[in-house]
Amino acid sequence: MLSVALLSPPYVTLHYAAPSWLPVFAWQPGMRVAVPLGKAGGLRVGVVLDADAPAAPEGVEVKEALWPLERMPLLTPDYLEMVRQLAVRHLASPGDVLGSLLPAGLRTSRVRLRLFGEGKPRTLQLKDVGRMGEAERRVLGEAWTGGQLEMLDAAFDADASEVCVVTKDPPWPVRPSAKRQIELLEYLWEKGAVPRSVVTGAFGASCAAVLGTLAERGLVAVGPPQAVCACAPEDDDAGAGGESGPACVAELADGNGHGGGYVLTPAQRGAADEFAAALDAPHPETRLLYGITGSGKTAVYLELAAHTLRQGRSVMLLAPEVALACKLHRAARTVCGGQDIFLFHGYQSPGERERTFRAIAARTEPCLVVGTRSALFLPVPALGTIVLDEEHDASFKQDEGMVYQAKEVAHFRMQQVRGLLVLGSATPDVKTFHAARSGHIPVARLSDRVGGGTLPDVELVDIKGLSTAESLLAPQSLQALREVVERGEQAVILLNRRGYAPLMYCLDCGAVARCPQCEIGLTYHKGRERLVCHYCGHSVPYPAPCEACRGLHFLPMGEGTEKLEESLAHLLPPGSRVLRLDRDSTRRPGRMEAILDSFARGEAQVLVGTQMLSKGHHFPEVTLAIVADGDLGLNLPDYRAAERTFQLLVQASGRAGRGEKPGRVFIQTRDPAHYCWQFVRAADYEGFFDEEIRRRERRRYPPFVKLALVRASFPADWDKGMAYVEQLTALARERGRAHGVMVLGHTPSPLALLRGRKRFQWALKGPEWPGIRAVFHEMRAAAPRGGQLRLGLDIDPVNML
Ligand SMILES: [Zn+2]
Ligand SMILES: [Zn+2]
Repeated sequence: MLSVALLSPPYVTLHYAAPSWLPVFAWQPGMRVAVPLGKAGGLRVGVVLDADAPAAPEGVEVKEALWPLERMPLLTPDYLEMVRQLAVRHLASPGDVLGSLLPAGLRTSRVRLRLFGEGKPRTLQLKDVGRMGEAERRVLGEAWTGGQLEMLDAAFDADASEVCVVTKDPPWPVRPSAKRQIELLEYLWEKGAVPRSVVTGAFGASCAAVLGTLAERGLVAVGPPQAVCACAPEDDDAGAGGESGPACVAELADGNGHGGGYVLTPAQRGAADEFAAALDAPHPETRLLYGITGSGKTAVYLELAAHTLRQGRSVMLLAPEVALACKLHRAARTVCGGQDIFLFHGYQSPGERERTFRAIAARTEPCLVVGTRSALFLPVPALGTIVLDEEHDASFKQDEGMVYQAKEVAHFRMQQVRGLLVLGSATPDVKTFHAARSGHIPVARLSDRVGGGTLPDVELVDIKGLSTAESLLAPQSLQALREVVERGEQAVILLNRRGYAPLMYCLDCGAVARCPQCEIGLTYHKGRERLVCHYCGHSVPYPAPCEACRGLHFLPMGEGTEKLEESLAHLLPPGSRVLRLDRDSTRRPGRMEAILDSFARGEAQVLVGTQMLSKGHHFPEVTLAIVADGDLGLNLPDYRAAERTFQLLVQASGRAGRGEKPGRVFIQTRDPAHYCWQFVRAADYEGFFDEEIRRRERRRYPPFVKLALVRASFPADWDKGMAYVEQLTALARERGRAHGVMVLGHTPSPLALLRGRKRFQWALKGPEWPGIRAVFHEMRAAAPRGGQLRLGLDIDPVNML
């Protein structure tokens, strides 16, 4: 009896009989199979969890499985065990978990079979096989056994399909009356590269003509998916093929532009040797690589990767963001040839990801995988080492779909295979460092910048009394900025707020333009000529009359990156250029790399950007970093607000003074007395840690307790919703007492209305996870059926909104 986890709704695990027309060995755990479901016998794809499951309970009708979708299992027993563990942890089914881990092409039943016999090969759809009689199926079964039948990958179809992508930044030269064109452009701008079929699904078949017009005018490209990745092309890279050109050396050193090749400093060598010894140990190990910004952590990772491969084991190097993963990938090509290195991240096309997944599943030799968090779920053979670079970064937690923390999954995988997990950071997660201090994770330190560069001077600029009408930058910040530009050096300005103005205030009636779905203020995007909700993407054209009074006079309040970029043009010496790096300026494929390259080549003197620019980039000519609004993250309703702010600001400060010239950092704040600043100024991570850990212990926050959020939402116009939330609160409190879990709430979520749904949350604190899970389980069981009320558990939330 086969036990099969379905990869699409209802995601349950069902029993199927192995049919007689295929040999027993055709069905193995870890294989994908097509199975019929329901009375109509529609086909689903599932994964065999067990090929020798006990018989189904009495009275349950068991159907026959239809067809195996591969000859060798796609997933190993270890992999299936990881899936089972994730399912337990998230109170989900294995099918739920697999459904979110496997690339789309591996979940579709639109698989074709090609039959080689006499004459021309014949192609069959799986559903044709479903309609066949017993005798015909036997013929197919014999062809399968004789090797005359092959399964065609869905990746072929994915590649054949076209995608649509906007090719010009807004504003677009389209008449306001051309509503369909504008709608389509806005849609594609928000979504990025979208398969043509999805666009047709959203806009109807008649959109073909509009797409045609836009393509003719050069505003939209329609064609086969190119690599949407921001990576430089394979062939123009100095680091390819093991040659280390100057650019490559700088990257390896993670901070110095000189030096004679890939030679480790004594500190780097010490760390690499220590890690190599840990890998060779007979039990699983975890290490923290704690090195200041610019201290050359990448070179240590690469040395470890090379060592792991020499031991015949695979390596994963994971970065929090695509741009950093691509950079790591280029550097990694110095240690590993083209056959054995894979890049995997969420911006690649589904077909590309599917091919990588299959290629890795089919391997027996070790390989090197570089990617973002989703790469963690590749079925890599003989895994030996996982490195999480910038381990403190919140992007390692997936918040949507299946919620998981990459660090925990990585830890589990390394426990399974007795491998080595390396966490690297200049500003480790407070929880990680607490584990290190408590002796659970040995630490390797890199305390100096490679090439002798020094950490920059950090100055606080009090902007309490500053009128923001003129400029967001205080006079002394502006003065320093002008001097840097006049000296021919470069500066970066961090402002973690994109768009032109975060608030639009009606001068006629005093109303603020708000999103009808979320009640959040709309942000004015000048170039796009729209007001946009940053939480749900809803947007309206601007200028347009006030919703409340039809007045036409708005005052943009506050300043986003777009406005800062604009205002700098008047404030800097003539001829200076300013570039902007944020989600809006990098929506088009390849733009991020283009902006970073242009800045690195010195084509602009100032780079304005959101937190994107704080991460890992290396600009030797930058001697000044200005943080325009240092307080922005400090007041968020999140127990980690200070930790986040500290990490962001130390990382941003780390962009200055990485070359030969020393750097300065200006942090503008309205709250200069906050305890965080003294540690930011000294780049004193350990001082910050000591203070922060004392506060957490006093207030009972992680790592001293386990913390989870239960989130509830229901449609704003559903009148029963509130009563259910109150019932759940009473139940949670009562069950919490029984399980030793403290239940706080319900409280409205900080985003109390999102996409037309009211949102509430409970915080659950307890000594261990099982009690917290048990309380949630009982809340879920008591919630009304019918789907109006959605209830979710976020274990160890990184985003409290
Ligand atoms: Zn008004
Ligand atoms: Zn909204």
